[in-house]
Amino acid sequence: MSDYKIILYLCNWAPHTAYHNLQDNGYQIPPEIKMVRVSCTGRITKALLLKAFEMGADGVALVGCGPGTCRYGTGTLNAVNNTEDTERILELAGIGGRRLRFATFLPDDTEPLRRFLAEFTADIKTMGKSPVVPMGKVPAETTEDPTSLADILKKHDAYACQDCGKCTSACPLALSGKPYSPRALVGAIAAAPPLSEAVIRDVWACLTCGLCHERCPSDVDFPEFIRDVRSWIHARQGDENQAHGGFFQSLMRTMTSPEISPGRWKDRPADLIADPEGKTLFFGGCAPYFDIFFRNHAGLDTSRTLFDAVRLLNFFDVHPRLLETERCCGHDLLWSGDRQNFLKLARLNTEMMNDLGIETLITACPECYRTLSLDYPRHGVKPAFTVMHLYEFLEREIDKGAVTFAPLEHRITYQDACRLNRLSGVGALPRKLIHRLMPTRFTEMKDSGAASICCGNCAWTGCDAYSKAFQVRRIRQAAATGSDLMVTSCPKCQIHLRCAMEDPFLGRELMMETADLTSVIARTIRWE
Ligand code: SF4
Ligand code: SF4
Ligand code: SF4
Repeated sequence: MSDYKIILYLCNWAPHTAYHNLQDNGYQIPPEIKMVRVSCTGRITKALLLKAFEMGADGVALVGCGPGTCRYGTGTLNAVNNTEDTERILELAGIGGRRLRFATFLPDDTEPLRRFLAEFTADIKTMGKSPVVPMGKVPAETTEDPTSLADILKKHDAYACQDCGKCTSACPLALSGKPYSPRALVGAIAAAPPLSEAVIRDVWACLTCGLCHERCPSDVDFPEFIRDVRSWIHARQGDENQAHGGFFQSLMRTMTSPEISPGRWKDRPADLIADPEGKTLFFGGCAPYFDIFFRNHAGLDTSRTLFDAVRLLNFFDVHPRLLETERCCGHDLLWSGDRQNFLKLARLNTEMMNDLGIETLITACPECYRTLSLDYPRHGVKPAFTVMHLYEFLEREIDKGAVTFAPLEHRITYQDACRLNRLSGVGALPRKLIHRLMPTRFTEMKDSGAASICCGNCAWTGCDAYSKAFQVRRIRQAAATGSDLMVTSCPKCQIHLRCAMEDPFLGRELMMETADLTSVIARTIRWE
């Protein structure tokens, strides 16, 4: 029995006939290959491709019909795009892009198919086993058993609810017309298990944006409460409420494998100066993965924020260390209930950076900032370094008074990131920086600061028509300020708001230029 595992997604039509012919001719399919017959390779999403690696595949082949012969029209094109994107992400994550392959065959292509299967199997064996530890086989010492629902209710003092309804009247989901009430959800959970399907759906619908907590006179911390309930549910029955088929959760779980070696900064621009021995680390986060996955969103380039962040550090003579082997901070695993894998990532990251003697970690991502500075220590993982948001560093340096800004020929408004604003309590900091810039005009949106509404999606859960509706509402609020540039501070705000801007019905009406604050500062800052 071979130690290797290769998944072959085989299209039901032309290549299946060729495969059949092979078997009829007595050809022994390599034992490493496990064939899965599919109706069309175009239906195998990026999430399914990655899932195979997460479950322990060493290689995945997608075998379909040639262009123009696909029974469903665009199947071949979808398969090509999905394979290309996933290949690039596998490469970036250190799993290896060549472990995934796409090929097409006609019914009579028996010999070419035989050659393909033999060569692919040989290639995979040359590459060796996948570095991903199959989920389920990971040592269990990282497990933290979630408490009971009653304990979770007690921990967050949810019984102190006065039934005032302020949470519901603030919740952007409820205000978008979703029959949804945080207060009623607490009540339904307090009514004890078994939780109904509707309650579980609502637990994953919450955006954990924290607006309700902001308003609650009893200080019921709904985001933290929901997060604990998600862990409780996840540990018992998993989670099927993830956007994009759970692609990002899968990706983050693969990063818990100690042996993977990502190539995180390989494609960085040549002008960035880094110090490979430095004690100040710039932690980039997952933006490059998002750019590949969402490459069809017009002009999405969230990696630019990371490069501009390093440029700004360089501007102030800081040459940060950049870790090729950087993994995700684990934010999305934590907030989508997978506490066990979050803890694995947190420990791997912390051990690696502690071993390197990192003294200060700087990040430009609100989620990395919140997770590394607050959630790691709260979960018993203690970094030996200080975590700083880039804005803190910039404010300190700019305050020394030696710089100025070139005029910014835009009327700007600002979209708060909930992880920076309400969930880390540093909403004032980006505003301080904005006030130092020289835009034509700066106007706050109707709901801003403590009352701001988020981008409508968190941790790749809860994306539905209602979150889309309030993204549209948010963009309209931005347009109502008369601004022509929406400044953001989170890569996901860019992704989600741009997604809403591509609404096929509202189209141009919602279009508005967006840019990350880091990039705006990088392009206007000057020495005095
Ligand atoms: S955290 Fe946000 S989305 Fe969730 S219930 Fe509160 S206000 Fe609504
Ligand atoms: S705002 Fe707080 S006290 Fe009021 S109903 Fe909501 S959870 Fe209860
Ligand atoms: S907001 Fe857009 S990009 Fe984000 S999960 Fe929903 S559909 Fe996908």
